[in-house]
Amino acid sequence: MDHGNRSGDDVLVVGAGPVGLTAACQLARLGVRPRVVETLERPTTESRAVGVHARSLEMLAALDVLPRLESRGRRIAALEMVDGRTARTRARLELGDAPTRHPYVLDVARPDTEAVLAERAAELGVVVERGVTLTALTQDADGVEVALRSADGERTVPVGWVVGADGGHSTTRHLAGTHLEGGFHGQHFAMADVDVDTPLSPDTIRMFTHPDGMGILFPLAGTRARIMFFVDPPGPDAGAPTLEQIQALADARMGGRVRAHDPRWLTYFEIHHAQVPRYRHGRVLLAGDAAPARAGDHAPDPVADSADPGLVRRYLDDALRLTEPSAV
Ligand SMILES: Cc1cc2nc3c(=O)[nH]c(=O)nc-3n(C[C@H](O)[C@H](O)[C@H](O)COP(=O)(O)OP(=O)(O)OC[C@H]3O[C@@H](n4cnc5c(N)ncnc54)[C@H](O)[C@@H]3O)c2cc1C
Repeated sequence: MDHGNRSGDDVLVVGAGPVGLTAACQLARLGVRPRVVETLERPTTESRAVGVHARSLEMLAALDVLPRLESRGRRIAALEMVDGRTARTRARLELGDAPTRHPYVLDVARPDTEAVLAERAAELGVVVERGVTLTALTQDADGVEVALRSADGERTVPVGWVVGADGGHSTTRHLAGTHLEGGFHGQHFAMADVDVDTPLSPDTIRMFTHPDGMGILFPLAGTRARIMFFVDPPGPDAGAPTLEQIQALADARMGGRVRAHDPRWLTYFEIHHAQVPRYRHGRVLLAGDAAPARAGDHAPDPVADSADPGLVRRYLDDALRLTEPSAV
């Protein structure tokens, strides 16, 4: 395979979700300006990952994006366990004493996270090429050849390294010849991104216990909130829950304290607990949901994974060794 004259910056990041953008920013800060391709012509409007925890906040602070991110989200000072039938608080965990510079959770909708990271990436000279999809990949010890499809057709491009941050259904993972191992029958949730009327203070994430399944309220900026409920598997043809169904769940399981309106996004989703056996396959590295398929699973954190300086340093070290033909 002839890969031409490669240098340390020919790293392709596949996917401009929170993980791809974070990895791109980290690589750029470390002197490797990656190329980033993203299938979607426009960023998603789905709120998805909303709770950003202390370790990710520390790493996002190092990327100089935290004040911008905080201006779009809401600081959460405590977690509460509430009896869903009586609305009585059973336990409250204050986060203020946590041993971190950021002893709180930041609730922020994913489009805001992406927008801020994309802005930072642009400042660092990274261009996100939208409407470009990775469709094929072959590699040998010296490099990777990828096929990228866009409105202009399909091109084959040589790159030194590929970071697959293309989500739970990762094409990169499939093309690298690996697969997820683990549990594929997880918990099901009905989820709503809505505005809420509630007397409950907005600085607390509340988990409402109920015999039929837990309900969770994540306050976002303003009156916006993410509410979710453990539910039985909705079945393959269920479609999305309606606002009325979400309200009925809230009435039953949130002590009658939450009224939902103005829905932005209603959906069912399932958490899987599966992971690839290895993150690295030759010159292909997998990150975020492409590696552990954890829609909604908070640990380990996908942003923390990709922003981890040690991990990215290892990416970088590997990338810089591109000039040494026997490196891999
Ligand atoms: C319904 C739902 C609800 C969720 N709720 C929560 C939550 O409450 N809290 C939480 O912490 N997490 C939640 N998550 C999980 C969270 O969204 C993910 O952990 C997080 O988005 C992972 O980021 P990522 O960048 O690895 O992947 P993604 O966000 O999936 O981004 C991958 C990107 O790659 C692009 N892409 C895919 N294939 C290609 C290709 N071949 N070529 C180019 N680009 C490609 C996609 O368009 C996408 O933009 C939820 C997920 C879902 C689906």
